[in-house]
Amino acid sequence: MLRVGVNGYGTIGKRVADALAAQPDMTVSGVAKTTPNFEATAAHRRGYAVHAIDDAAAFAAADVPVAGDLDDLVAASDVVIDCTPAGIGAQNREIYEAHDTPALYQGGEDADVADASFNARANYDEIANGDAEHVRVVSCNTTGLSRVLTPLDEVYGVEKTRATLVRRGGDPSQSDRGPINDILPDPVTVPSHHGPDVNTVLPDLAVDTMGVTVPATLMHLHSVNVTLESDADADAVRETLADESRVFVVPEHARVAGPGHLKELAKDAGRPRGDLWENCVWGASIAVEGRDLYFFQAIHQESDVVPENVDAVRAIAGDADAAESVVRTNRALGVGRFDPTDGDATAADGRGMAASADD
Ligand code: NAD
Repeated sequence: MLRVGVNGYGTIGKRVADALAAQPDMTVSGVAKTTPNFEATAAHRRGYAVHAIDDAAAFAAADVPVAGDLDDLVAASDVVIDCTPAGIGAQNREIYEAHDTPALYQGGEDADVADASFNARANYDEIANGDAEHVRVVSCNTTGLSRVLTPLDEVYGVEKTRATLVRRGGDPSQSDRGPINDILPDPVTVPSHHGPDVNTVLPDLAVDTMGVTVPATLMHLHSVNVTLESDADADAVRETLADESRVFVVPEHARVAGPGHLKELAKDAGRPRGDLWENCVWGASIAVEGRDLYFFQAIHQESDVVPENVDAVRAIAGDADAAESVVRTNRALGVGRFDPTDGDATAADGRGMAASADD
C-alpha cells in the first residue's frame, strides 16, 4: 500500500483524500491543515489523521485530535500531495525535499514548481518512465483541454486549436470572489496563459486560448474550435470522444441546458459532493465543417483534477502503467459511470458513457 499524505484540506485536498482512500493500493497517511474549521472536523470524522500546520492547541480546543505537524505527516508518507493555495506549494517544496519524499503540486503553482507537469491522458508514461519526483498536476482548465485534444491529435491530427474559456468567478464556497455582475476578459491579453499551460504536457500542440470570467460558481464552459489535419465527420468525432473514459458526451435526449443541469445530474446519480470528474461535452454541439471541428464542454473545476492526482501518485511511484492506473482509479471512484445500475460496468475500462454511445 502506498502511504499518501495530503497537505491542504480545502476544495481539492478533501476530494483528493477521499479518492486516495477509495483506491485498493493506497492509504491516506494523514492530512495537514492550517485552520481547525468545519473541514478539519470532517477530516477527523472521516478517519484521517489530522496534522496541524502550526497552532495545534487551536485544533485541540476545537475537539480535533492532532496526530502531529507537517514534518510528521511527510515522514509518514511515501508521496505527499500538496493541495495548499496557489503559491504555497512552491514554499513547501523544500520541506518535501528535506525528507526526500516525492510530491505532487496543483495547477495554481507555476510550472517551474516541479520537475514536470502531468495529465494522465497526455503524458503518464513519460512521467512514469522518467525520474521526476516533484510533479505538478495541471489546472482544471488545462486538464479539460488535454483530455480532448490528446485523442483528437492521435486520431485526426491537430493543426491548430482555438478555445475560449468561460471561467467561473469562484468556487461555491468562495464568497470573496467575483465578479458579481460583470463579464470580464480575463486575462485581457490574448492569448491567455492556458494554451502555454497545455504545452507543459503536450509540447507540440498548437493551441491559443482566450479567457473570460463570469458571475458563476458551478463549472467552467469551453467553446472549442479545432482545425484538424485530416477530414472527419461529426459522428466519428463524437465516437472518438465517447471512447474516452474521462469524457462524458452528454446525450441530446438528456436535455442538459447547462452546468446547473449537469450538477443536478451528478447529484441525482449519487456522486459525492455532486462531483463531475469527467469533461462534459455536449453531443449536440459537435459540428464539423471541412477540417474545422467545433464543440462546447463544461469542466467541473472542483473535481476534474482529482482522478489525475491519483494517477500521478502511481506514475511517480512507478506502480502501474497508464492503462492500469486509469482503470484502477476509474473503477475505485466510479468515473465514467453515472448510474451504476444501468448495467454498463465496463465504462470504467476506458470506454465512454453508456448514454453517449447512441447519441
Ligand atoms: P482551498 O483554499 O479550497 O484549500 C486550500 C487549503 O489549504 C485550505 O484548507 C487552507 O486552509 C489550507 N492552507 C492554507 N495555507 C496553508 C499552508 N500554508 N499550509 C497548508 N495548508 C494551507 O484551495 P483549492 O481550491 O483547494 O486549491 C488548491 C490548489 O489547487 C491551488 O493550487 C489551486 O490553484 C488548485 N486548483 C484549484 C481548483 C479549484 O477550482 N478550486 C481547481 C484545480 C486546481
